[in-house]
Amino acid sequence: MHRRIFCRICPLGGLISLFSTFTPFKQIALTKLTKNEQKCTKCGICKRACPTQATAVYDKKGGDVTESKCILCARCVEICPYKDALSIKIAGQTVINSRDWLEQTNYT
Ligand code: SF4
Ligand code: SF4
Repeated sequence: MHRRIFCRICPLGGLISLFSTFTPFKQIALTKLTKNEQKCTKCGICKRACPTQATAVYDKKGGDVTESKCILCARCVEICPYKDALSIKIAGQTVINSRDWLEQTNYT
């Protein structure tokens, strides 16, 4: 009986090693959700919009508010109605930040 090659040499170890080598998986650790306490009005929209019920985005004061429940989906950043109150940074560089979208709404 002929055995397939992957029955002798398991490819799983190699795949795991590749996964941990490539940057997207390393970049996750460098990605942070941050809050500017001076710009936050404590409106609470971010906390209500979070799909994983992460609370640090609302409860923590300023700085890095990433927590274990946070999946960095950026929904809170999109819904926060105050410019630069929330942002997502990769290696210290802002890639997405909240906007003053309430002031831009035209109801006429
Ligand atoms: S939505 Fe923005 S302004 Fe409102 S509590 Fe959250 S971070 Fe603060
Ligand atoms: S980035 Fe997503 S998961 Fe993280 S706190 Fe904001 S809404 Fe919740």
